[in-house]
Amino acid sequence: MPIEVRTHATLAETARAFAASRGAHILGGGTVLMRAVNAADPSVATILRPADPVLRQIRTEGREIAIGAGVTMAEIIAHRELGFLAPVARLVGGPQVRTTATIGGNLFAAAPYGDVAGALLALGASVVTGEGRRMPLDDLFRPHAPRAFVATILVAPSRDFHFVKVSRVRPKGVSVMSIAANLPRPGGRLQDPRIVFNGMGARPMRAVAAERALSGQPLDAATIARAASLAAEGLAPEDDAIASAWYRREVAPVHLRRLLEGAA
Ligand SMILES: Cc1cc2nc3c(=O)[nH]c(=O)nc-3n(C[C@H](O)[C@H](O)[C@H](O)COP(=O)(O)OP(=O)(O)OC[C@H]3O[C@@H](n4cnc5c(N)ncnc54)[C@H](O)[C@@H]3O)c2cc1C
Repeated sequence: MPIEVRTHATLAETARAFAASRGAHILGGGTVLMRAVNAADPSVATILRPADPVLRQIRTEGREIAIGAGVTMAEIIAHRELGFLAPVARLVGGPQVRTTATIGGNLFAAAPYGDVAGALLALGASVVTGEGRRMPLDDLFRPHAPRAFVATILVAPSRDFHFVKVSRVRPKGVSVMSIAANLPRPGGRLQDPRIVFNGMGARPMRAVAAERALSGQPLDAATIARAASLAAEGLAPEDDAIASAWYRREVAPVHLRRLLEGAA
């Protein structure tokens, strides 16, 4: 079957074309999508190339930074206001991948990809769809959430953000898992902590049980031990070529404990 490739000048046109066909895929950098095309994946019937300049922009909106979905990892690393995300983007693939891979594409790249998506979820980011609808990333990642064309990602910088990527090949190996955490501690106690594992399920997932164990507590040895023991609760790791589900469950508490000790 030939694949149709269409370019749309505006977000609204792209959103309409995306909604009209289940086989329509958005072209970001193509690092994942073009592999599917080369493998003759029958689910790719139409490729939409959104050409609206908004997709390439990075701008400040009040407390938040609005990042166009077509902004690449290399552009994130180079941008002065995005220093908090740069350490995550720097660990995505090698230089060639980072030059083309987009932040929007990372939201939809299947596990174990999705390191930046996990970081954004931990930071409580939201997305704005091509139709102009804002929604928390939590909703986009819910099981059975409707598919969406993402135009912009909105995220507030945080000084309390921590990230660790666990891979077998350094520095650019694919994740066994990555952990992103936002751990604000006004007055010395954790308030609304968010911990996200990537690689422990089909999409980045919040470690809700560990978050509960941390909430309202000081980040001391007893709290860290309790949260680490709950690291994998409610998560659903899978076997893949990188690691088995069993291995991921075994090492998740160790890596969460190390991250929390580093943040304390
Ligand atoms: C060698 C290699 C190493 C990699 N290493 C890592 C890694 O270490 N960590 C990691 O996280 N990822 C990694 N990746 C995965 C991936 O390249 C990137 O994470 C990337 O961000 C995907 O972006 P893209 O722009 O290339 O997406 P594309 O390939 O263009 O698209 C991927 C999917 O996202 C959808 N999509 C894209 N943009 C949008 C949008 N705006 N709205 C809705 N849907 C959209 C597409 O329809 C498609 O289904 C690696 C990939 C390769 C090839």
